[in-house]
Amino acid sequence: MKHIVILGSTGSIGIQTLELVDKDENLKVGLLVASKNIDLLEKQICEYRPEYAYVEDQDLSLILKNRIKERSTCRILSDLNELIEEIRNKEYDMIVNAIVGMAGILPTFAAVEAGHKVAIANKETLVCAGHILTKLAEQTGARLIPIDSEHSAIAQCLVGEDLFDVDHLILTASGGPFYKKNLDLSKISVEEALAHPNWSMGAKISIDSATMVNKALEVMEAGWLFAKDHEDIRVLIHPESIVHSMVCFRDGAIKAQIGAADMRLPISYALYEYKRRKLAERLDFTKISGLHFYEVEQGMFRGFDLGLEAARIGGSMPTVFNASNEIAVSKFLHREISFACIPDMIEKAMQAHKLKKQPSLDEILEIEKELRSELK
Ligand code: NAD
Ligand code: MG
Repeated sequence: MKHIVILGSTGSIGIQTLELVDKDENLKVGLLVASKNIDLLEKQICEYRPEYAYVEDQDLSLILKNRIKERSTCRILSDLNELIEEIRNKEYDMIVNAIVGMAGILPTFAAVEAGHKVAIANKETLVCAGHILTKLAEQTGARLIPIDSEHSAIAQCLVGEDLFDVDHLILTASGGPFYKKNLDLSKISVEEALAHPNWSMGAKISIDSATMVNKALEVMEAGWLFAKDHEDIRVLIHPESIVHSMVCFRDGAIKAQIGAADMRLPISYALYEYKRRKLAERLDFTKISGLHFYEVEQGMFRGFDLGLEAARIGGSMPTVFNASNEIAVSKFLHREISFACIPDMIEKAMQAHKLKKQPSLDEILEIEKELRSELK
């Protein structure tokens, strides 16, 4: 029996992780974590019978406690410190981190401190605190196993290879719904921005894909996961989303991982620690009209350019880039600002920031807090 935790169980990645649990009676969920969706969490508690569940929203956690008290022995936590202690002190076999945004940072650190294996979808933690997290993982023996499809693709390409032989990594990007559309970005609606051409994902990452901020975050994520300089990580727009990413080796050989756009594959590959399991989705090569690849030209996606700039500056700048983007995306989703304002907000925050070269975890969280009050 393998005891797992799903942080962010009510989201897109969390739900797909539970679909894999459905197919394997040797997987037992011990802890489920969500922010507000107690209707779905209630169903998940009744179905998967975890010992613990955590709800970020305290009022909603009380409602959930009442709702399930007759039907389940599951203990509902709503104190973040209790959640962190639970992650730190239990012998879990795998922690799946599918929380969106910087809210995922402290649970990730708790898991890494405890030396757990972490299947990580929460790229924001690596972006902001990769310099601390990767060192900590080395000390505790924790493993960070990528769920993000591009990073899973790279991990799959690296099997049997020596990292020394890698010349560069190539991350592919769909380009999102607005690539080469020449639209007035100030008039784009929330619905249009959420309509990703190839992937069905949570709201925040769908907007990040439309601005290409997501790809800049992924360059930083790949830098930490594969110990590569950002100059050795290239990005190509590949609108079909069939080649999930590639590795170019020093002899010029290129390995690519190819498949249908289905997150269950990378989730499964991480959940089973780089082992393959049977999945149904198959790519039919005869139905592909073509595979296309384009450079991301400067100025095409301001959010992407700003992200690369933050990556180049390093230190606390990736935190500022990420946190200001989270705030801006949330405002856009609440229809408070236009789509075009997202990079404006990021740029202003980056310009105003006084750089810290090696920010501590506390400083990273403080920067986020300050930005949240400044950009309210
Ligand atoms: P989502 O919005 O669908 O789900 C997010 C989950 O996090 C929900 O369960 C929510 O309740 C939980 N959550 C949010 N704030 C929380 C908090 N403060 N405390 C506890 N739980 C909280 O997001 P998603 O699309 O599943 O993405 C999750 C992460 O995975 C993101 O970092 C995203 O970049 C990454 N990712 C997602 C995909 C995808 O296909 N969806 C692909 C690659 C990477
Ligand atoms: Mg990705």
